[in-house]
Amino acid sequence: MSLSLRPMLERLPAYVPGRSVPGAIKLASNETSYPPLPHVIERIAAVAAQANRYPDNGAAALTDALAQRLGVRRDQVRVGGGSVALCTQLVQAVADADDEIVFAWRSFEAYPIITAVSGASAIQVPLVEHVHDLAGMAERITGKTRLLFVCNPNNPTGTAVGREALVRFLRAVPPDVVVALDEAYREFVADPDVPDGLTLLAEFPNLVVLRTFSKAYGLAGLRVGYAIAADPAITAALAQTQVPFSISTVAQAAALASLEPAAQAQMVERVREVGAERARVRDALLRLGYAVPPSQANFVWLPLGAATLAWAARCEEHKVVVRAFADSGVRVTIGNPTENDAFLAAAEALAPAG
Ligand code: PMP
Repeated sequence: MSLSLRPMLERLPAYVPGRSVPGAIKLASNETSYPPLPHVIERIAAVAAQANRYPDNGAAALTDALAQRLGVRRDQVRVGGGSVALCTQLVQAVADADDEIVFAWRSFEAYPIITAVSGASAIQVPLVEHVHDLAGMAERITGKTRLLFVCNPNNPTGTAVGREALVRFLRAVPPDVVVALDEAYREFVADPDVPDGLTLLAEFPNLVVLRTFSKAYGLAGLRVGYAIAADPAITAALAQTQVPFSISTVAQAAALASLEPAAQAQMVERVREVGAERARVRDALLRLGYAVPPSQANFVWLPLGAATLAWAARCEEHKVVVRAFADSGVRVTIGNPTENDAFLAAAEALAPAG
């Protein structure tokens, strides 16, 4: 006899993580290629000795440090076990079955999965020229809309929306509907026209900004993210929907150590390298005849359409693993210069004109 599982699971798309292939360079998961700094590793080792105790459920020390650093009150910050956990908590906090959640598509592939599991309906608004169609998203708001995700810069296209378009959109959203501005890649943004979500909180109390230690801070394996909201009702709701003890002691200690001045300086330096490499990789790809939208993140997007899967498979033969989205495109993480050279050599061998 088959088990009584929710019928929804039969239609649920699987979350597809970037693959690790032995002997190949992995540019498939938007990670940094550098290990955590030595003092962060030391701090991890030190707190590992307390692993017989449960972690601080509210991550008080890290919350305080973030609040201080970001210039907000501590009741405006909620730490989570990765920002994807906070996305999930947010959906659980706002949506009942039958409600609607709006997001762009293609965007972060966890959004449709989280939405489907919640029982709410996903309203997917196609990107226009690889960029969020914010006006189109605002038009899809109904009385059932409970949450809109705006991923800025967008995963997987790397494109970002500017301040004017974002403010216009936020003004069009009813004040009781929550907007999640997913800024997982915020640290990599170079364009001054792309707003820091924190600067919008004062005007928009329904806004929550999501950030992570996984990308620029290089702690993807430890799972720490954080949410900042103007309205403490949002962080309180995130606390209510959190799986207890989901941010480990080790993760909290590593994140805290990563906020210290020496680690910050190193992070800024790594981000600068990614920015320079992003420009170099994109320019080289454009010269090879690829279409590559401008990216503000630590990856670039090659909209290869029907050729996507075959191209990614051939790239892997060249020992470089990229993230392929069937019939849509390939997302390539910016690695260190050596890794990027290996990718560009593969891209040259597979070039449209070649
Ligand atoms: N948001 C976006 C847009 C992402 O690309 C990712 C990571 N792929 C996340 C959130 C989740 O990051 P984490 O859970 O590691 O903080």
